[in-house]
Amino acid sequence: MVQPVLQFSHTLLQQSVSHGEIVIDATCGNGNDTLFLSKLVGDTGKVYAFDIQQQAIYQTQQLLADHKRNNTILIQDSHANMQAHIGNQEIAGAIFNLGYLPKGDKTIITKKDVTISAVTAILRQLKHGGHVVLVVYYGHPGGKEEKAGLLHFAAELDQKHYHVLKYEFINQQNNPPFVLAIQKR
Ligand code: SAM
Repeated sequence: MVQPVLQFSHTLLQQSVSHGEIVIDATCGNGNDTLFLSKLVGDTGKVYAFDIQQQAIYQTQQLLADHKRNNTILIQDSHANMQAHIGNQEIAGAIFNLGYLPKGDKTIITKKDVTISAVTAILRQLKHGGHVVLVVYYGHPGGKEEKAGLLHFAAELDQKHYHVLKYEFINQQNNPPFVLAIQKR
């Protein structure tokens, strides 16, 4: 069945992440992906969730509390500094939801170079078979630069080591988001 973009991003992680593992939400925003990951790794696993905005950390904290989830470490910092927080632990999977915080400040957006450096850092510690999944929104100012930079970066990854997939609806109007998925072989 053809899945909507957000559902497909979760399906990839569902297929490759097990209970007890460590995963990353690189852009927690309103916390929807964090909650999904928290359930996916179960009480024995751990989620590291990053966002630069206090509002996002607060919203995510509330959502997790509403669902009585307590296996997540919320970090108000850039995902570019991720290694300082997680050390050299193996990562089972990660998700990035790019762009701006829905219902938030539309000028605070993810940026090409920062996103690429965070993805590069995660790939070093990603388990074999694990995915870094990016949901790429690019309709906002600055979005097209990030999209172009990421596609260039991802297309250059060595196919001996990574499967790289773009999942996109090509008949939708108004810059629909797409999934860019990188799986470590
Ligand atoms: N996944 C979220 C959800 O389910 O609601 C939506 C995320 S939103 C599209 C993008 C988020 O990325 C914003 O909350 C923004 O503050 C955050 N962000 C931007 N630059 C960042 C960075 N360098 N490190 C971490 N988060 C960043």
